[in-house]
Amino acid sequence: MNLKNIIVFLVVLTMVSCNNKTEDSGKLSIVTTTTMLTDLVKNIGGDLIEVQGLMGAGVDPHLYKASEGDVAKLANADVIFYNGLHLEGKLVDVFEKMGSSKNTVSLGAVLPKEELIGSEYFASNYDPHVWFNISFFKQFANTVRIELSKVDPSNAAAFKENEKQYLMALDALEASVNTKIETLPEEDRVLVTAHDAFNYFGKAYGFNVVGLQGLSTATEAGVQDVQRLSQFIIDNKVKAIFVESSVPRRTIEALQAAVLSKNHEVVIGGSLYSDALGSEGTVEGTYIGMFTYNVNTIVNALK
Ligand SMILES: [Zn+2]
Repeated sequence: MNLKNIIVFLVVLTMVSCNNKTEDSGKLSIVTTTTMLTDLVKNIGGDLIEVQGLMGAGVDPHLYKASEGDVAKLANADVIFYNGLHLEGKLVDVFEKMGSSKNTVSLGAVLPKEELIGSEYFASNYDPHVWFNISFFKQFANTVRIELSKVDPSNAAAFKENEKQYLMALDALEASVNTKIETLPEEDRVLVTAHDAFNYFGKAYGFNVVGLQGLSTATEAGVQDVQRLSQFIIDNKVKAIFVESSVPRRTIEALQAAVLSKNHEVVIGGSLYSDALGSEGTVEGTYIGMFTYNVNTIVNALK
């Protein structure tokens, strides 16, 4: 080996060992399922953890199946946070297979059962769309902080401070949501969407919520559902109905067509984020941005 080759060899060796160091950063490796939970865990863990979300923007968690890459991520995780209550219907098996060998945390499981909305559509017997109640999301924040602190006690104080900041931001969100909704007359607070994702939203903020599809997007809406709901829209003088980012448009367009065929008018008031946030790096790519966007879209269309 001549000198030049030795230098190249040493440089390559240094680069490889540097890479290994970055990979083994000593940070907790956290895996989350939905984009809402990915955003939440990033807020609590900050730079002190590495977060990998399995689902991206626009992904429907009811139908999501784990890829081989996902299984590898899950196997290497220090903690796995998921929504639970059977939202991630096709991942339940994967989580169960991991059994007691992994620190898996169902955030939905921390909520008091008496505050949940019952549902026959899910094996859990509960509606899993719990993040649409901001006070539930605050409880998630608290649980995430406690779990991170258990596996990394040396950073417990920093997690606690992050939680405090994030809870303040959620308080501000709650206040602005209530102020915005108060501008809408009570009789106009009717929310018609493609699937029943907004029952917790309705209960918390005073909306009558009617979904065209069952709670899970796995069940298709039938002709009878469309007829029944189009009559409801006419009877209640509903001005606008809404599409959702993670559900195909065609279901809500069929509903609009049914209303029009009865010589009444209803507009599509916009697209709401239901089971996934907007693209990463955008305002709607955060829980707070998503919630604000949804409320503005709903109130402006129904006014
Ligand atoms: Zn859903």
